[in-house]
Amino acid sequence: MEFEPVIGLEVHAQLLTESKIFCGCSTRFGAPPNTQTCAVCTGMPGVLPVLNARVVEFAVRMGLATGCSIRRFSRFARKNYFYPDLPKGYQISQFDEPLCRAGELRVEVDGRARTIGIHRIHVEEDAGKSLHDQDPDASLVDLNRSGVPLIEIVSEPDLREPREAYAYLTKLRQILVYLEICDGNMEEGSLRCDANVSLRPRGARELGTKAEIKNLNSFKGVEAALHFEIERQASLLRAGRRVLQETRLWDAVRGETRPMRSKEEAHDYRYFPEPDLVPLAISDAWLREIEGALPELPDAKRVRFEAEYRLPAYDASVMTSSRALADYYEAAVAAGGDPKLLANWILTEVLALVHERGLEIEGSPVGPQALSELVRLVSKGTLSGKMAKEVFAEMVRTGDNAPAVVERLGLRQIRDPGELGAVVDRVLAGSAAEVEKYRAGKTSLLGHFVGLVMKETRGQANPGEVNRLLREKLEGRG
Ligand SMILES: [Zn+2]
Repeated sequence: MEFEPVIGLEVHAQLLTESKIFCGCSTRFGAPPNTQTCAVCTGMPGVLPVLNARVVEFAVRMGLATGCSIRRFSRFARKNYFYPDLPKGYQISQFDEPLCRAGELRVEVDGRARTIGIHRIHVEEDAGKSLHDQDPDASLVDLNRSGVPLIEIVSEPDLREPREAYAYLTKLRQILVYLEICDGNMEEGSLRCDANVSLRPRGARELGTKAEIKNLNSFKGVEAALHFEIERQASLLRAGRRVLQETRLWDAVRGETRPMRSKEEAHDYRYFPEPDLVPLAISDAWLREIEGALPELPDAKRVRFEAEYRLPAYDASVMTSSRALADYYEAAVAAGGDPKLLANWILTEVLALVHERGLEIEGSPVGPQALSELVRLVSKGTLSGKMAKEVFAEMVRTGDNAPAVVERLGLRQIRDPGELGAVVDRVLAGSAAEVEKYRAGKTSLLGHFVGLVMKETRGQANPGEVNRLLREKLEGRG
């Protein structure tokens, strides 16, 4: 029997606010343990939370960007559970009245577009962090993260294969980063993902029993864990056995999922409305203000790049893969230069350079203006493509601009007909036999003559001009 996987993802994104969700403590990552805490986020008795408006604004941005309807009146809820890193004994979250719901995200896998439903996006606070490897005799608790704002984005079970889940996560991350509400760093925990997976006979409508996979801390990990889990469930079902509804942990080292101890998953959260917070109301004016300030999103930008700069789909999708790269590209185009040629240079030399050095595009040793200057020299014919690569390498090495490097290295393309004509004459005079053959009809010898001229000029001759002059002289029009 053939099975169809059904996958849903729950993604927690840490919001990039300066302060925590219910107090004024800093959210800065990497501070010494317990230095960014106060009575509120350590859960002291008698304190009252005050909602950070920025958190709501950021969550609404994500809701609008994914086509969700925004609930104008929503309530917070207490999610009760005991854990050492949760001093209050409950987490303030949203339960039956999430801020955003019923949105969607378009993903593309192998050129095939699919729309994945977003069930809901809600706001909540993060818990602290237990540290088990600092002290051999004890577990320690760091509450710096306690009260850091999160949104949880819950997809519909619309994903059908691990590659789609990967594409969905990539797109989600791209939008979060475009909106400047999350840094998207999965390795540092700013983006966390749990996956629900079940199998059903292909063509069936009913859902099978699902397993929830936790501890997915990289994009590749999500894909690998899904592959493993689908295979595991399929072999159970093929053997006529049942899939248990359970929570499983992904073990990236062993490349397998395994069940969590039942103690870890015994959840009865006893949700009830948070009595310390008034319901959250969002006015028309505020909603319009947030909507008006939304940046151009990746899909819209890609379409615009294709139309405005006449870029092929692939180029446009890479140029808009991040807002920073799109800004770099547009700054280069604005500084002058052929848009397609600039895209080629960024796709090859510039991205190779920043990847090789582990930099972000903003840190590229060759900035957009400098790149535009170089590319214009290529368009003008001053430099051949090959020379331009040499100049680029030298710009990276010295930090000089293209004209200065060209001047210093004496790198200049020869295209002056007089200067080049003299070289062509010399070459033809030295190859009388080949010239005879050419004139007798062996026109394939043209390449041979071009090669000789290039050699003579140490590659500095303009190939188009060399071709033109050779033809002219060989065919007796010179
Ligand atoms: Zn605090």
